[in-house]
Amino acid sequence: MGLIVQKFGGTSVGDVTKIKHVATRVIEEAEKGNDVVVVVSAMGKTTDKLVGMANEITASPSKREMDMLLTTGEQVTISLLTLALIEEGHQAVSYTGWQAGMQTESVHGNARILHIETEKIEQRLQEGKIVVVAGFQGMDEAGEITTLGRGGSDTTAVALAAALKADRCDIYTDVTGVFTTDPRYIKEARKLLSVSYDEMLELANLGAGVLHPRAVEFAKNYHIPLVVRSSMERESGTIIEEEATMEENLIVRGIAFEDRITRVTLHGISRSLGILSTIFTTLAKNHINVDIIIQSMTAEQTTNLSFSIKSDDVEETIQVLEKNRAELEFERIETEEGLAKVSIVGSGMVSNPGVAAEMFEVMANTGIQVRMVSTSEIKVSTVINEKEMVKAVEALHTAFRLGNPAEARV
Ligand code: ADP
Ligand code: ASP
Ligand code: MG
Repeated sequence: MGLIVQKFGGTSVGDVTKIKHVATRVIEEAEKGNDVVVVVSAMGKTTDKLVGMANEITASPSKREMDMLLTTGEQVTISLLTLALIEEGHQAVSYTGWQAGMQTESVHGNARILHIETEKIEQRLQEGKIVVVAGFQGMDEAGEITTLGRGGSDTTAVALAAALKADRCDIYTDVTGVFTTDPRYIKEARKLLSVSYDEMLELANLGAGVLHPRAVEFAKNYHIPLVVRSSMERESGTIIEEEATMEENLIVRGIAFEDRITRVTLHGISRSLGILSTIFTTLAKNHINVDIIIQSMTAEQTTNLSFSIKSDDVEETIQVLEKNRAELEFERIETEEGLAKVSIVGSGMVSNPGVAAEMFEVMANTGIQVRMVSTSEIKVSTVINEKEMVKAVEALHTAFRLGNPAEARV
């Protein structure tokens, strides 16, 4: 007997039949004698549809009103699931994020959770009720409704698991676990039995959409065992924990990828001390997330600086740079859109030099030009042409033998 937090994503609650099915999985856990808190997302593509409607009205919607709009999606699901649980003879109650005590920073669209006032949930659990909480939403100090960023219901679930000191957090989704790469694109992708927090954090940050990066951060910081599993199939999932049990001797454990990347190059920057700091401080102050940075000297005693950003941020980045042109001391800006980032991840890389070299060799043999590179102890990221993204992932997946660990390099 313990306390379990279960989270069901959009596809798992896509229609009323699926919601009734989810109710059976919740009841199974409760009938084992566990206290159960359930976090749900909006049904199916509801969030996308709501965004679409707003975009039909305006190209630049107010962020506050978007939060007001998008949080309605989750509210539909909590009530329907709770009705299904009650109909099956169980005591259950639904709460919006703010009713559940989810306090966030004052940022619309991408707020961080600051604190969870768990008293109400704990009381309901003591009364023997199943508690159903809306994912992805919270409230700031001023009582304004906020959202946690797309995919943020995972974070609601793990943060609740941490605050309630749950024994486990199960993330139910439309795949049977965390795979070596996105199985929707690469059919040879293979389910992993376990992944370490650090590996999962890299994979999630580098584009593997199966888990929200902040959810993994919470799980790591509060040592919450996280299981990713299917809401439809009865297979054991993938456990994300401190030290992944090595099922096989793979150095590379997974490949993540992300399209819609743009490279921005500032030509002719002066070599004055502190100029880099001025440029990146200016971008950071305007909430522009810069990823890979490359600096190169020119013969003319100036510097060229390239960095990658998400393509959605291009317009704002150029505006910010142009506005501060005098202070930033560059000659001209050049942008290259239509790029993608492909990354290999694995804890084993720390003690195995030559993995990056192998990755570049695979890219060269596949005829793919690498435009930018960045490495950390457990990952190598490359920026390439977006059109070659899937081809690159396939080639790397084969070369590092991720589909067939029996042949793995030791
Ligand atoms: P949910 O609605 O349940 O939150 P998501 O669509 O957010 O589901 O996440 C599940 C999807 O993540 C899968 O359908 C899959 O296409 C994608 N995905 C990306 N990378 C991976 C990976 N390495 N392993 C499993 N799924 C992945
Ligand atoms: N409904 C939100 C989204 O589609 C949150 C989530 O599903 O996690 O992004
Ligand atoms: Mg998700």
